[in-house]
Amino acid sequence: MSEEVKEQEVKTQEAQEETSVVDKKKFKRPVSKKKVCAFCVDKTNVIDYKDGAKLRRYVTENGKILPRRQTGTCSKHQRELATAIKRARIMAILPFKGE
Ligand SMILES: [Zn+2]
Repeated sequence: MSEEVKEQEVKTQEAQEETSVVDKKKFKRPVSKKKVCAFCVDKTNVIDYKDGAKLRRYVTENGKILPRRQTGTCSKHQRELATAIKRARIMAILPFKGE
């Protein structure tokens, strides 16, 4: 499947969402699964800044740190994570800006 086809699909989905605005009361948002902090699950206290593969999951393609609402990381670990990512950048494990 080409990328153009995918784009068209997205556009049709958006169009459908627009029509559903009319009957907003009937439309229910899909119940999002509650995300649990991955670091709390692993019981990690200190996030290793040398673990590039793990940290890469929490940054965008452009090297930006993903927000908590997207990753489900708790505030305590998000702070730790931000520090770890910043350290990793200095150590050239992660890019400052997109590759
Ligand atoms: Zn946590």
